[in-house]
Amino acid sequence: MKIHEYQAAEILKSNGIPVPIGYMIDNLDEVKATVETIQKESNNAAVVVKAQIHAGGRGKGGGVKFSPDLNSAVDNAKSILGMQLITPQTSGEGQTVRKLYITQAIDIAREYYLAITLDRSSSQPIIIASAEGGMEIEELAHSSPEKIIKERIDPIFGLQPFQSYRISASLGLTGHALKEACKVISDLYKSYVNSDVSLAEINPLVLTKDDRIFALDAKFNFDDNALFRQENINTMRDIFEEDPADVEASKFNLNYIKLDGNVGCMVNGAGLAMAAMDIIKLKGGEPANFLDVGGGANVETVKNGFRIILSDKNVTAVLINIFGGIVRCDRVANGIVEAVKVLDLNVPVVVRLEGTNATEAKEILASSGVAIIPASSLDEAAEKTVEVAISK
Ligand code: GDP
Ligand code: MG
Repeated sequence: MKIHEYQAAEILKSNGIPVPIGYMIDNLDEVKATVETIQKESNNAAVVVKAQIHAGGRGKGGGVKFSPDLNSAVDNAKSILGMQLITPQTSGEGQTVRKLYITQAIDIAREYYLAITLDRSSSQPIIIASAEGGMEIEELAHSSPEKIIKERIDPIFGLQPFQSYRISASLGLTGHALKEACKVISDLYKSYVNSDVSLAEINPLVLTKDDRIFALDAKFNFDDNALFRQENINTMRDIFEEDPADVEASKFNLNYIKLDGNVGCMVNGAGLAMAAMDIIKLKGGEPANFLDVGGGANVETVKNGFRIILSDKNVTAVLINIFGGIVRCDRVANGIVEAVKVLDLNVPVVVRLEGTNATEAKEILASSGVAIIPASSLDEAAEKTVEVAISK
């Protein structure tokens, strides 16, 4: 799960990390009073108006505007709120800006990059830092990998003070700023562990002209599997920022990931879903999605699965590939027949059911009168689906 910058700033602040004074607003009527409050609290006329969307690179797309005074802040807020913001990390259509974060402007001497994520190859959290902040880390990793500092953390012992020191010193910090950076790193690690974070990124972490450290922009992603124990984080969810099909799928406990192709897939089990997608590609097709309906495939899950797959207008055929282990194929077959009748499908559906009660399932499908293309092996099913998907 992702959250907005203003929410990430709240988490940083509650963990003791210095962030600029800032307030989130979602209405232009609030701009003037908000800017005046920030000006008073920061003792500085300049503010920054920042679009809140779940994607980075907002500055490049015109979603982050330095505003030297109240009038320019009001003008910038007017132009950003409601805009369709396109950044290198959004789709081509961009994302509608529904919220603004207005912050105190900071006098920057230098920008750094600091992040913590999971290094899957060593099964350890890893701190990634660079003295080249502000720019995208992926770009830096490509052009000058030697400028990236990495420090792996033993999860049993936790982050050690010498590690924070080593990172801060490698960034070229000294004296008071070095001490502050060490504290930021250790506080960030605490929030990473305590909130089940999968990515905590501060970009830029800045050194001010008066030798202080601030987190100027932050991004947090959370492990969805741990959300059940993160009540606070759960309340930060903003479904406007999520793909509507993803929101639907998560309501019904379906694992759905939209892809670019035209062959819709409904499969039970992640491994089988991956195999089905591979074989579709092998047969010359392109999967439109990954959809794992899980162990309890029944009429409801099949119906919801269909609805989600068909909300994608690129889909020209659907492959249903269910292995009946715990779930019985005859039940799934009933579900498919009912779903096809109710939903009035206008794309061909190829069905392969194998496992418990597969024979009964085939009879149900054959005698149902609904236009379903049966298949016995996965190979045959994929071939038939790709064929009808192309001819559609
Ligand atoms: P992003 O483009 O989505 O990553 O948004 P950021 O919040 O990181 O802002 C982009 C850039 O705007 C930063 O790298 C800074 O260079 C600049 N910026 C943001 N806030 C301030 C500020 O308070 N003062 C100054 N001088 N520049 C800022
Ligand atoms: Mg940034």
